[in-house]
Amino acid sequence: MTKGLIFDIQRFSVNDGPGIRTTVFFKGCSLRCAWCHNPESIASYRQLSYDPSRCDGCFRCAHHVRHHGIAMINDKASVDMNVHDRSYDLVEICPQGCFQVVGNEKEADEILTVILKDLDYYRDSGGGVTFSGGEALNQWPFIEILAEKLKTRNIHLTLDVSGYDPNHMIERTFDLIDLYLLDVKAARENVFQKYIRQSLDPDIMLKQLKQANKAVILRCPIIPNVNDDTEYFDLLAQFNETYDNIIETHLLPYHKLRKSQQVRWLNDRELFEDPTESDKLRWRKEVNCRGIRHVWMENKQVSL
Ligand code: SF4
Ligand code: SF4
Repeated sequence: MTKGLIFDIQRFSVNDGPGIRTTVFFKGCSLRCAWCHNPESIASYRQLSYDPSRCDGCFRCAHHVRHHGIAMINDKASVDMNVHDRSYDLVEICPQGCFQVVGNEKEADEILTVILKDLDYYRDSGGGVTFSGGEALNQWPFIEILAEKLKTRNIHLTLDVSGYDPNHMIERTFDLIDLYLLDVKAARENVFQKYIRQSLDPDIMLKQLKQANKAVILRCPIIPNVNDDTEYFDLLAQFNETYDNIIETHLLPYHKLRKSQQVRWLNDRELFEDPTESDKLRWRKEVNCRGIRHVWMENKQVSL
């Protein structure tokens, strides 16, 4: 039986497409965006998380691994997650619940059971189900099984994609997906190389989605002095003019991860500065002076 590797199912989501939705987060992503808000989504295998705030310094974990990759510092365990990201026995060893396994293999029917609990909410609010990640497209053969079951119940389906699709999977989704959330991460090549180490051209996927007559919401992570340059807003304007299937553009201002979460996952993730109100004001002006339509930021409409 085919299974999907997921790291969360979020009921009553309101930011992943129209209405009230259930968002299924799939684990595994081919990209490494420095600003990723879901670092637990990147590896395509089960992982261990570590929450130092719960540690009472009992020493059991360090003793268990004979101090390999775990040191006691100021009466707390300091865990090198590069060594211990798959040391699942630590979950049982730690009496404080500091360690957790992230990522579960689930059959389509297990996920379906959760999703169907909120059927009435989807119908009343015009909502549905969103497949997100990570890169959900990487697990399409499994999602297809689930999506077929949902479509027979007439549930609206949204797919969240990064735009990176070397295996041309997107074409296989057209029969089942109603709406696409597509990232626009940057406009300049040096930003791609420095912060993602992979070039992306959303125009390729936008063309395919236009030809397939599919609605698109652009999702735009925006970080001051990183990707909020003139070229970025020019690119959004160009897409807005070219593709009438873009129904909305969402600016997603960067915000720092909680430090503890950062430590738990990837100690070397880049931290950027949160935008100021004047950054956000400038972004609104950049949007409006270019006449980019249907732009939203922080649940407020920036342009009509
Ligand atoms: S076993 Fe848990 S509580 Fe004890 S030192 Fe290790 S992380 Fe801390
Ligand atoms: S594409 Fe999304 S999930 Fe993947 S690394 Fe970038 S921000 Fe994270």
